[in-house]
Amino acid sequence: MLDTNMLIGSKFVPGTEAPEKVLNPRTEETLIDLPEASVEQVDEAVEAADKAFASWSRTTPAERSALLLKLADAIERDAEAYATLEALNCGKPRIRVLQDEIPGIVDCFRFFAGAVRNMHGLVAGEYLPGHTSMIRRDPIGVVGSIAPWNYPLMMGAWKLAPALAGGNTIVIKPSEQTPLTLLKLATTIAEIFPAGVVNVVVGRGESVGNALIHHPKVAMVSLTGDIATGKKVLQAAAKTVKRTHLELGGKAPVIVFDDADLEAVVEGVKLFGYYNAGQDCTAACRIYAGKKIYDNLVAELAGAVKSLKYNQANDDENDIGPLISSRQRSRVASFVERATEHKHIEIATGGRQAAGKGFFYEPTVVAGALQSDEIVRREVFGPVVSVTRFDDVEEALGWANDSDYGLASSVWTRDLSRGMQMASRLQYGCTWVNCHFMLVSEMPHGGVKSSGYGKDLSMYALEDYTVARHVMVKMG
Ligand code: NAD
Repeated sequence: MLDTNMLIGSKFVPGTEAPEKVLNPRTEETLIDLPEASVEQVDEAVEAADKAFASWSRTTPAERSALLLKLADAIERDAEAYATLEALNCGKPRIRVLQDEIPGIVDCFRFFAGAVRNMHGLVAGEYLPGHTSMIRRDPIGVVGSIAPWNYPLMMGAWKLAPALAGGNTIVIKPSEQTPLTLLKLATTIAEIFPAGVVNVVVGRGESVGNALIHHPKVAMVSLTGDIATGKKVLQAAAKTVKRTHLELGGKAPVIVFDDADLEAVVEGVKLFGYYNAGQDCTAACRIYAGKKIYDNLVAELAGAVKSLKYNQANDDENDIGPLISSRQRSRVASFVERATEHKHIEIATGGRQAAGKGFFYEPTVVAGALQSDEIVRREVFGPVVSVTRFDDVEEALGWANDSDYGLASSVWTRDLSRGMQMASRLQYGCTWVNCHFMLVSEMPHGGVKSSGYGKDLSMYALEDYTVARHVMVKMG
């Protein structure tokens, strides 16, 4: 039985507007026609959150922590059910959700449950004679959170946990394509949290999302999504000067020096260039390879990528799933088609839509790519990795930084001091050395440049979801 009702205040209600089709991308079948929220329902959700803020914002960190821990335990208890549902709605291998995503989601709630009880700041004292100053970190208000389709429950967790820990109330909207796990989570949330602290509304960005980001009582908007959507959030925020927390796209450079451990690079890119069918903003998708290692890397990587399993009847055998939609697959296919129009491009493996049902696209390696090529510059968000040859360090670094994006990057070399030098000069929110895509709750995830500026995970997220305030007391 699917949970299909939205959570508004303490009530579970269906949307009152036209339904959106929610699909299974593996079979292309419709799972459910889900009516979306009306503008009035978004308003009710924000009002409920606003009302709940008065008491929730005055709970102690220990009280909020206890409820976050309960939520973490409940997700862990129902891990199998969440994994099944996420796999159904996203098409991704169930085992990957169960082993990779759910533990991270549970840990995210546990981390913020602990973090909020351990916040640090400036020392209180007399910075003006006769006046004592102290810093408070207070909740912001109602947060409007908008999540993407690539990791629906995990992105929900990354938004809910720090916002709740910080004492805010929330109206969250999952992607219209992948609402099912957040709707299920809503039923658990309603058992644990006071009414109105978390509200879940469903529907499309241009209608429901738009109503949320323009709502005058929403004090902060948190978005994980496309750059174009981020710009709309900023425009809407300007009207009432809302805080914004933006996690936008990425185009991660992977710099492979000639001295790198080739086997480790191939294994790393096979895993993290294609994880979640490349629908990942940190995907290892833009390789720059030294001129000596380039040929071997292309050959070995093509072989390894060809061995990736997808669309197997036994889901446990699948390494990756399909793309989220027919539209997304067409987008990916058109990037590769345009790339192949260049004479210098070689498709080392893949390059076609997979046959049969499901929005599958062959895992693809595009070799011989040049820095000026679209495939190197734009986010594909699919199982496609480009490889570009470089001559020297400065060229590799220049090309890596020559991007509108600034989310994640990696450097592969046996010379750790060179790795450290590169890390200090790369303009990315994260640089991994001899690995890629490793996330931990204690460390921040977020971008620079057009990739946005909000930090997810870590104490930095707790800072983003609270406001520093100065209180000064004149002594008698
Ligand atoms: P999207 O921007 O189309 O949608 C994201 C969310 O925004 C959805 O819930 C959507 O309904 C909503 N939305 C769309 N238009 C809106 C509007 N006008 N007003 C309010 N809400 C609106 O992005 P997507 O296609 O779902 O996700 C893919 C994108 O997300 C990629 O670009 C990817 O790189 C990015 N992403 C970034 C991160 C990160 O951490 N930086 C993580 C995951 C995904």
